[in-house]
Amino acid sequence: MNISKEPYLVTKPFLPPIEEYKKEIEKIWETNWLTNSGPLHEKFNKEIKSYLNVKESTLFVNGHIALELAIKVFEFPKGSEVITTPFTFASTTHAIVNSGLTPVFCDIKLDDFTIDAQKIESLITEKTVAIVPVHIFGYPVDVYMVKKIADKYNLKVIYDAAHSFGVKIDDVDIGNFGDISMFSFHATKVFHSIEGGVLTYGDEKLKNRLDLYKNFGVNTPDSVDIVGINGKMNEFQAAMGVVNLRYVDSEINRREKIINFYRENLKNIAGIRYLEDKIFLKHNYAYFPIIVDEKKFGITRDILHEELKKYNIFTRKYFYPLITDFGCYKGLYETSHLINAKHISDRVLTLPLYTQLKESDIDYISLAIVKIQQNL
Ligand SMILES: *Cc1c(COP(=O)(O)O)cnc(C)c1O
Repeated sequence: MNISKEPYLVTKPFLPPIEEYKKEIEKIWETNWLTNSGPLHEKFNKEIKSYLNVKESTLFVNGHIALELAIKVFEFPKGSEVITTPFTFASTTHAIVNSGLTPVFCDIKLDDFTIDAQKIESLITEKTVAIVPVHIFGYPVDVYMVKKIADKYNLKVIYDAAHSFGVKIDDVDIGNFGDISMFSFHATKVFHSIEGGVLTYGDEKLKNRLDLYKNFGVNTPDSVDIVGINGKMNEFQAAMGVVNLRYVDSEINRREKIINFYRENLKNIAGIRYLEDKIFLKHNYAYFPIIVDEKKFGITRDILHEELKKYNIFTRKYFYPLITDFGCYKGLYETSHLINAKHISDRVLTLPLYTQLKESDIDYISLAIVKIQQNL
């Protein structure tokens, strides 16, 4: 097997035809309006609201700031507890901690790596104010069960929907669940605006407060009543968003094909497991994580990850380590019950996925996995 000269990275951002982007940003030279809710920002927000099929939406400079403000807008008392997942990107927990709140970690399910809603109730105390679950890899949380618990205990639900742009549950667009959902438009996500993010929500009363929070709390030039931050999306980001939105459906279709090539190639390899489609969901094919079972596959995830580099294939241990094992959090929280999260985190490997990949590229990556297994 010839080693590929081109490296396969885990992801590669989508770029639209440059002429289309130029055409959008030319308007910025006409308006001389670069940021602070310019015309492209307003146009993009309208289009996003319609694409995601949600009641309300507010754009932000990035997904993390959006998530932090989604938590801050409820003004929970300092030290309140928020139930969340340890199997996610750093941003989810940082948003809780940076808001002066205490994360309480709930274990995940082995089948789709989302928070195990059955285990949430036992973690609730008189200090609990919210649940922050993650639709990890675009696979939805059990939103119905989460709602039942939140209603019973009067908790807010803020979804980290960073991975789940375009996903639907039983034909309902995913941004309609919970009190607020955050979608990230980072360059490496399924849909992007270079950097960017949006909050979607049903309660229109939140709109004014979110707008204040993202603009330093400045109400009028003479009145500042909220300790806000700078979370505004600029016109260049909005222009990229407007253009990329024209391509997102074809991007998702292409991703589906690539994932199906992978599934076909990997289905008979002992010790490799991957997520399947579910009939009640519309997927966005955001990532292709596999689970490596050392007992059946013969080698560990860590060795496979290293060996693949010799084939010029760069995978990611996504998500490893668990949040609770990060240097900044280690030893601070109860973790002994996070058995499934640890199991998955020790075995998960995310394979290269971007729409420039051809079927022959997927064959190459799959064959490399087979070769690595056979050589041992
Ligand atoms: C990307 C991501 C974020 C943060 O979004 P940014 O737009 O990069 O700030 C938050 N949560 C998860 C799960 C993510 O993957």
